[in-house]
Amino acid sequence: MATKRTTRSRKKSSVRKKTRRTVSKKRSTTKAFAATKNRPASRKKVVQKKTATKKKARPTSAARGKATAKSIRKIPTKKKKTTHSRAGAGAMVYRFSASRTDGDDSMKALLGGKGANLAQMSRIGLPVPPGFTITTAVCANYIAAGGKLPATLMKNVRTRIKSLQRDTGKNFGDSHNPLLVSVRSGAAVSMPGMMDTVLNLGLNDVSVEGLADLTNNPRFAYDAYRRLINMFGDVVMGVDHHHFEEAFDTIKRRHNADSDTDVPAQGMKELCDAYKLVYQGHVGRPFPQDPFEQLQHAIEAVFKSWNTPRAIRYRQINSITGLRGTAVNVQTMVFGNMGDDSGTGVAFTRNPSTGENTFFGEFLINAQGEDVVAGIRTPKPIADMPAWNRTVYKQLLVVKKTLEHHYRDMQDIEFTIERGELFMLQTRTGKRTGFAAVRAACDMVKEKLISIDDALTRIPAADLIQLLLPRFDETAKKNTGVLCAGLPAAPGVAVGKPAFSAEEAVDRTAAGESVVLVRKETSPEDIDGMHSAIGILTSTGGMTSHAAVVARGWGKCCVAGVGAMHIDAAKGVFSVNNQTFGRDDVISLDGSTGEVMVGAVDTRDPELSGDFSKIMKWADQRRTLGVRTNADTPADAQRARSFGAQGIGLCRTEHMFFQTERIASMREMILAQDEPHRRQALAKLLPYQRDDFVGIFTAMDNLPVTIRLVDPPLHEFLPHDEPTQRDLAKRMGIPFEDVQRRVNALHEANPMLGHRGCRLAVTYPEILEMQVTAIVEATIQCLEKGVRAKPEIMIPLVGVVKEFTLLRTIAEQTIACVKKAAGFKRKLNIPIGAMIEIPRACLVAGQIARHADFFSFGTNDLTQLTFGYSRDDVNTFLPDYIEQEILERDPFQSIDTVGVGRLVKGAVYEGRPANLTLKIGVCGEHGGDPDSIAFFHSVGLNYVSCSPFRVPIARLAAAQAAINNQ
Ligand code: PEP
Ligand code: MG
Repeated sequence: MATKRTTRSRKKSSVRKKTRRTVSKKRSTTKAFAATKNRPASRKKVVQKKTATKKKARPTSAARGKATAKSIRKIPTKKKKTTHSRAGAGAMVYRFSASRTDGDDSMKALLGGKGANLAQMSRIGLPVPPGFTITTAVCANYIAAGGKLPATLMKNVRTRIKSLQRDTGKNFGDSHNPLLVSVRSGAAVSMPGMMDTVLNLGLNDVSVEGLADLTNNPRFAYDAYRRLINMFGDVVMGVDHHHFEEAFDTIKRRHNADSDTDVPAQGMKELCDAYKLVYQGHVGRPFPQDPFEQLQHAIEAVFKSWNTPRAIRYRQINSITGLRGTAVNVQTMVFGNMGDDSGTGVAFTRNPSTGENTFFGEFLINAQGEDVVAGIRTPKPIADMPAWNRTVYKQLLVVKKTLEHHYRDMQDIEFTIERGELFMLQTRTGKRTGFAAVRAACDMVKEKLISIDDALTRIPAADLIQLLLPRFDETAKKNTGVLCAGLPAAPGVAVGKPAFSAEEAVDRTAAGESVVLVRKETSPEDIDGMHSAIGILTSTGGMTSHAAVVARGWGKCCVAGVGAMHIDAAKGVFSVNNQTFGRDDVISLDGSTGEVMVGAVDTRDPELSGDFSKIMKWADQRRTLGVRTNADTPADAQRARSFGAQGIGLCRTEHMFFQTERIASMREMILAQDEPHRRQALAKLLPYQRDDFVGIFTAMDNLPVTIRLVDPPLHEFLPHDEPTQRDLAKRMGIPFEDVQRRVNALHEANPMLGHRGCRLAVTYPEILEMQVTAIVEATIQCLEKGVRAKPEIMIPLVGVVKEFTLLRTIAEQTIACVKKAAGFKRKLNIPIGAMIEIPRACLVAGQIARHADFFSFGTNDLTQLTFGYSRDDVNTFLPDYIEQEILERDPFQSIDTVGVGRLVKGAVYEGRPANLTLKIGVCGEHGGDPDSIAFFHSVGLNYVSCSPFRVPIARLAAAQAAINNQ
C-alpha cells in the first residue's frame, strides 16, 4: 500500500455500363456539379441569426454554397432544377442526389458523419453518386429489438431504390443495365475501418451478364461479382476470408497467373462459380440472387458491426460515448477499376502531418477504394496525377477549395474516377496531428477563412502535447545512421523493441516493455496492439493507410510503407539489406521523417514554432482562468514557466523527502521516541527543505508558489524490508526490534483514510513548524537577494474548520517567530489556505472560507472520497464500468461534473460570499484535462494547476472554455 501511494503520487504528477461517358450524361450524378442554391429554411434562419451577432459577417453557409457554385462551374456540368428539403420528422431514410436531398451536414447525429456530408456535398453541387442514408435511430431500434428491422423499413428502402433507378436510368438486378450499390456504415463520429462495408451489391448470375455486355468488359464484371460474393460471404455471413483465398489460388494455378490481375475473364467467371460453392458450403444455402435480399442482409450486417469487439474497443480507446449506432449509406456504385482511365484515391485538403496548405493525397490507377485504405498496394502521390489526368486533377483542386470554403476546415476526402469522370464518395473533417492543427488554424486565420476564436476552438487542446514532446537529437541520429526509411506517417519519435503481432504488443507492453508494432500493414483488428505500442512501423501502405490514419488520430509515431523491410512475423524477425533484427533489438522511429534507426537514439526538447506561440498568445488574450503548475523541483518549475505557467498551484513537499540522504533523516523523525528526538531529526531536514524552496522561489520569481504541507501517511516513508530496517536501527543506535515494532505500529488498514494530511500536524505540530520555518527562511533569503518570493501555505485534507484554525494559528506564530529571529523588518505576506479534498470540506466551505485566504480543490482525493473508489486500485473494475457504460469515462481523468462537480460548485457558492477575497483554484489531475477545465471555468474558479507539460493545454482549454461560454 505504501509503495502504491508513493508511486501514484509521483506518476500522477504523471480513429459500368456501355461506355460510361454516354450513359453518364443521363445520370444525375454528373448533374450534381450544377450549382445548388436551395437550403432548408430552418438552417437559413440559424445562419442569419448567427451572422447578425458578429461584427464582421462571415459568408453564410448558403453564400459559401454560391461561391462554390461559381468556382465549380469550371467543371463541365449540366444544370438541373433541384429541390432540396428536409425529410419529415421520424423518417427512417434520407435521400441524397443532385435533384433531391433530404439531409445536410448539421445532421451528423442522425445520418452519421458520412451520410450528413454526402447530403451536404450533393447540396453544394459536387459530383456525388446518388443514394440514401438509413438513420442511426433505425440502428438503435434494430439493436433494442434484438436484431429486428423496423416493419416498414424495407418498404421505404424499395421506394428509395425506385428513385435511384429513376435517377440513374438503371434497374436493380437488371439483365441489361443493372443498378449496383455500395452499403457502408457511418457513425456520427468517424471510426476508420471499424465497421462493415459491402460493395457491388445488386450483382447476380443475370445482372453480371448485363454488366459485362454494358461495359464490354466481362473480366471487370466477373471481378466485381466475385468481390461481392467474397465480401458478402465474409462480412454478412461470417465465412472466413481465407476460404475464398484458397479458391482463388486454385484458379490462379489453373490459369498460370502470378497475381490477381493476371487472371483472365474466363478465370474470373470460374472464380465466381468457385466462390458460390465456398459460400454455399459454409452458409448452407446458395448465394442470394434477389438483390433486395442481398440488400436487407447487408443493412443488417452494418447495424450488427456497431457492436463488434473491435468497434467497441475503438470507441473505448477514443472515449466515444453517447452515440445511438451507425447509419447505413446505400449509394450507386462507381468504379475505379474499369481500366487505365479509372482510379481511386484519398486526399487531405492540407497536409495532415504538418498542416501545410498543399493538396495532399494518394491515388491508384485501375483500383477500388479499399485497395488504398487497406494499404494492399502502395499508391502514387497525388502530385503525380496531372501526368495521368490533368483535367481530373484540376477538378480535384476546385473540390478542395469548395469544400474548405464550405466547411472552413481541412477535409479528408475519398474519390473515384470512372472512365475519366470524377465522383466524390466522402468528405469528413481531416484527422491531423497537433502540429498540423496549429499550423492550419493559423494559416486559415491568415487566409481569412476563419476567425481567431474559430482557430482557438478548432485545435484539440490535448493534442498540443505532441508539440512539446522530445524529438531525436540530430547529431545522435547522424551518428547512429539510418537503417531504412518509409513514409513519415505520424510524427513523434519512438524507441522500442519490435513486436510482430497486436497481441504480442499488448502482452509485452503490459509486462513493462516499450515495443514498436512491426507489421506488413495494420487492420482494424490490430487496434489494441497499435494503441499499446510506443510506435508503429509497416512495410506497405501509404500516408492514408489504416496504420497512418489511426496513428495520426492518436498522435502516435508511425512510419509506414518501408518497402526495403521484409517481415517474417512467424519467426519474429524483420530484415533490411540482409541484416536481420529480432525481438531483442532496439529500434528508433522518426515519424516526422520516416527514418528508422537501429539502437536507441537520444532525444532533445523541441523548439516551439511561431504558430504555437501565436496560438498561445491568442489563448492568453481570451482566457479568464489562470494557469499554474504542479511542480516540486526548480527544474520542473522552470520548464512550466517556459510553457507559460503563472505560478505553482501545488508543490508536494513530501516528494522532497525521498532522496537518499533525506529519507534517512525523515525516517529518524518518524521513528523518534519523543518530541525532542523528533525535533532533532526535523532540524536535519530543515536545510534541505529551505534550499529546495529557495530554488523553486527563484525559478518562479514574482509568481505565487503554493506549498502544501506534508500529506501522506508517515508509514509510506518507512522501510518495510528487514535489511533496510536493520540499517536504520544501526544508524539510530536503537535495537532492530524497536524499528520493527514502530513500523508495524504505524501500519494502517486504510492509510488513505488514516493518519495523513493535516491530521499529522495536529498530532505532530513540530513537523508543520519545521516546514513553515523552512518556507519563511527561504522567503527571507530570496527577498534579501532581490528574488521576489511569493509563497502560499496550503493545509491538506481539511475536513473540519477547527483543524484549519488550529493549524493556521501555529503557522502564523511560526512565521512571526522566524521573522523575528531573522530580524526581518519588511512586511511578509504569506497567505494560508485550505486544500478542499474531503467531501465534508465542500459541505462546510462557508465556515472554512471565513478563515482561509484561498481554497485549492484536490480533486484526486475528492473524487476518491466522493465515489468511494480507491484511486490506487480503481483499475481492477473501472474498465468494466466503462465497457458497460455505467460510467462514461474515468472520473479520475475527467471531472465527474454531476457528482464531484456538484460538491465543487457548492463549495464555491458557499465560500465566495463568506470571504469576498477568497482565491479558488484546483490542483488535482483534472486541472490539466480540457473538459474539466471547461467545467472549472463555468463554476468561476480563479485558476487551474497542472503538470508542466499540460500547461499549454490548459491555457488553450481555458480560452476555449471562455469562447464557448460567452
Ligand atoms: C488531490 O488530492 O487532488 C491532490 C492534488 O493531492 P494528492 O494527489 O497529492 O493527494
Ligand atoms: Mg490529495
